[in-house]
Amino acid sequence: MAETIHDMLRELEPEIIGWRRTLHAHAESGWTEFWTTAFLAEALGRAGFHLKMGAEILDGPSRMGVPEDAVLEAAARRAVDQGADPKLVERMRGGFTGLVADLRPEPAPTIALRFDIDALPMEESGAAEHRPAREDFASRNAGQCHACGHDGHGAIGLAVALILRRLAERIPGNVRLIFQPAEEGVRGALPMVRAGVVDGIRAFIACHLGFRALHTGELILGLRDFLATSKFDATYTGVPSHAGAFPEQGRNALLAAATAALNLHAIPRHSAGATRITVGRLEAGEGRNIIPARAVMRIETRGATTELNDSMYARAQRVLEHAAGMYDVGFENRVMGGCSGARCDPAMVEVLRRAAADMPFFRPELIRDGVHFGASDDVSEFMSAVQAQGGAATYAMIGTELAAGHHNGRFDFNEAVLAPAAELLVRAVLALSAARA
Ligand SMILES: [Zn+2]
Ligand SMILES: [Zn+2]
Repeated sequence: MAETIHDMLRELEPEIIGWRRTLHAHAESGWTEFWTTAFLAEALGRAGFHLKMGAEILDGPSRMGVPEDAVLEAAARRAVDQGADPKLVERMRGGFTGLVADLRPEPAPTIALRFDIDALPMEESGAAEHRPAREDFASRNAGQCHACGHDGHGAIGLAVALILRRLAERIPGNVRLIFQPAEEGVRGALPMVRAGVVDGIRAFIACHLGFRALHTGELILGLRDFLATSKFDATYTGVPSHAGAFPEQGRNALLAAATAALNLHAIPRHSAGATRITVGRLEAGEGRNIIPARAVMRIETRGATTELNDSMYARAQRVLEHAAGMYDVGFENRVMGGCSGARCDPAMVEVLRRAAADMPFFRPELIRDGVHFGASDDVSEFMSAVQAQGGAATYAMIGTELAAGHHNGRFDFNEAVLAPAAELLVRAVLALSAARA
């Protein structure tokens, strides 16, 4: 039977690569994954999966960093123009994208796999050496690009689904596949957790292509040093005035923001562990002879633990408020994203290790565990929720050569990783369901 799973995936491989390329060409950033979700929903529906969408899987008020209505509506129209089923797109109205697919209607699933499906709001390279451009599957959507490999994640999820369907007799319980929107900017997991998507889940696995695993045959079974993070926009509102005639009548939002930016970066390091803060963008003012009345900053904090990040966030808010006081301008803070820290459970790491041991694709000398992550993925929200109810979770990285780093317009990966990644997850699910039977 071991051969059979491998053979099934070998046979499916050209299709898996095709799905990846189709998803790549229809890149959609967070909360606008209308085409992507509809494509997956149709394929999973045909495979007999039980689908949940919209407000059933997302707690509306917990969604962070949702684009403006006009942006959502334009993206929804574009998806329909590109052939998405209008009925499915309607179910996602207002940016309720993403999908939960259960192998069977009952019992409640205890095993869940998560695949993030969003692209980045950036331009893809059109250079001839960039394979998606050369082989005609580059993003058709201006300013939207799959530069993190989530197109691959979606394709792997679909492949896992089709194989699990064929092996369903061997799976006594139920399995849930979570297709998460808006991972970039860490916005999509928390609303899914709050809608109960991982309630009752005892075993949870998520994977990322590449990142810290950059060779074919490499596998990181579990990571350490997740960073908890908060993403927020600070807006200062002052009063404009003539810079020559009546500067004293103005309230200078630019100076408040500049003062805040320097002092945010002056928050001291913490003895309890790593912290970060970045003012990544500062926009202010209109013209050289106008006292600037508005400034917006895009800021993030991170911490080695949720507590460390919370402390950075609280200090940042004090700096921002008091800079507003110094310049007598209004201050408003808007939370745009955020996630907790996480840890990988040894039990789930072992499940993946055993699954990989049966696959010659993974090279034993390149299978590792406990690798430093030093970044954030809001998979941590799912993992913490599963662990809080007594379950176990891990976040793995599956090795692949990259043409350029993550979040680069020339990002591309070696597609030979796709079928083996799906095989690894199928094997893990079979092992978990056998253990639970
Ligand atoms: Zn990314
Ligand atoms: Zn990513």
